[in-house]
Amino acid sequence: MQAYRHVLLAADFSEHGEEVAERAKDLADRYEAKLSVLHVVDNLPITDSIYGPIIPFDVDITEQLINASQEKLAQIGQKNNIPEDRRWVEVGNPKAEIVRVAAEEKVDLIVVGSHSRTGLGILLGSTAANVIRHANCDVMAVRLIEE
Ligand code: AMP
Repeated sequence: MQAYRHVLLAADFSEHGEEVAERAKDLADRYEAKLSVLHVVDNLPITDSIYGPIIPFDVDITEQLINASQEKLAQIGQKNNIPEDRRWVEVGNPKAEIVRVAAEEKVDLIVVGSHSRTGLGILLGSTAANVIRHANCDVMAVRLIEE
């Protein structure tokens, strides 16, 4: 069995993010692996079947979101000892981008949070479930308990 060499933390900046980050850092430390962090700015326009996109893809908003994300990643990076060149922001579908970046960067362990779901959440499907299904490396789903 090979030790992990590159751990990727998928950060959505939610209230539970710290728990997920701590787990990723702990695993990276134990394996003496590199730790990288990725946030994906979701660019899905909200669409209506009759009127089409209600909020069209807006470059300005996306740029602002990218800048804000970089600031948040800087905080996570400083706290968890992740160097600047391994703090990544991508624009797109988070489920697909996490898998794509992990493959491209030769990540061998992705760490994501996993919520228990009810209602609409079950229908939409969780990021963790999608990443587990499509990633070609191991995935650690950190169970997040809602208060
Ligand atoms: P969700 O299924 O959307 O509640 O997200 C569960 C986990 O997926 C989060 O704890 C993150 O690890 C990851 N994740 C969700 N959205 C994003 C995003 N936009 N960028 C990076 N990671 C994300």
